[in-house]
Amino acid sequence: MKEPAATRRNFLQSTVAGAMGVVLARPNIASAGACESIRIEEPFHGAILNRRHGEQIEGGLKTRVSGHAPLRDRVIVNGITARRAGSSFTSEIILSQKETEITATSEDDSGRHEHRVRVLWDRHSQPRYRFSIDDNSFFLRDIAQKKYASLFDCFYLKNLRELHSKYGTRFVLNIYYTTGDGFELPQFPDLYKSEWQDSSDWLKLAFHAYANLPDRPYQYASPERLIADLDKVAEQIIRFAGEQTYSPPTVIHWGMVQPTALKPLCERGVRVLSGYFRQSNGIWDINYLLDDARSEYLSRHDALVDFASGIVFSKIDIVCNEVPVERIVPTLEPLTKDRNCAEIMDLFTHEQYFWPFYSNYLPDHFQRLEVAIRWVTEQGYKPVFYHEGFLGGPA
Ligand SMILES: [Zn+2]
Repeated sequence: MKEPAATRRNFLQSTVAGAMGVVLARPNIASAGACESIRIEEPFHGAILNRRHGEQIEGGLKTRVSGHAPLRDRVIVNGITARRAGSSFTSEIILSQKETEITATSEDDSGRHEHRVRVLWDRHSQPRYRFSIDDNSFFLRDIAQKKYASLFDCFYLKNLRELHSKYGTRFVLNIYYTTGDGFELPQFPDLYKSEWQDSSDWLKLAFHAYANLPDRPYQYASPERLIADLDKVAEQIIRFAGEQTYSPPTVIHWGMVQPTALKPLCERGVRVLSGYFRQSNGIWDINYLLDDARSEYLSRHDALVDFASGIVFSKIDIVCNEVPVERIVPTLEPLTKDRNCAEIMDLFTHEQYFWPFYSNYLPDHFQRLEVAIRWVTEQGYKPVFYHEGFLGGPA
């Protein structure tokens, strides 16, 4: 299974060599190991920086810029001469606005070279966590069939409410239009509307997909298909649970959409999309088809903004149905020691594992949630919804 990756790398190498043949043919520079052109390596284009990434000073956040440039060139970063050491350069800038463009320039006898990146400053950042549950549909079918007096007579919502009362947790449930066995959202009664509305400060519903199957329904779907399904589910949520309960989508089923779908999703109110950003057989996956460089970056950072669409991508920190109780804290704890992962905890799981009739039912699923939630609460993380403020924090 390594073959596709190797083939891809060879292809990239030959493309780069082809495009930069002139540069590579120049003597000295390439053979000296220096890079051919100036490049900012940190911060990364689209990075979201907070107080952990520098020094909070009077005028903003003082943070470090570093990169590489040809050995002999003088490098200027946003008007200030950078320090050089071999082919690397470092400088400092002060972020005073939400969005900052960083420009590094160098000059040699072939002309002026520059590299620009843009970053966001999460000025009011505070430790926070978000809890999102995917693949929801069984609990809605259960309530519609059993005709409970209250929503919270359904054990699933009852247990979520208990976690909310104990820890203040906010949940966003990402739902399907249909369970695929005849139950569809239009069959869900609007009898519980006021109960939904009363709970909407901690319990929200969002579109996830039309149905559980097929897998990866939007990986190759047109944006129109995706938006049509989203609108269908949104209309139903608003009908039976009210506007207050509606949340824009936060995870699309399988975390895969076409790049052209991002802007239309942003227009539907999507601010943050969460994914795994991990490799499977050498291929970056569950990554909304982001390129390899950004997927790799997200695999070890809390979040990254895609300026083209305006959507922020968030790295899911734990999938509770995949992690045994005793591994929950050891999974989360190291993240708090890494400044790039410590600020935002993206907690996550799937609905089906709560149901005894499901083939992979997990009897301790709620216990897993409680261990994760209790631990982040003890560490000072506050519960948020990602579509509010900036990544759930004050904007
Ligand atoms: Zn899903």
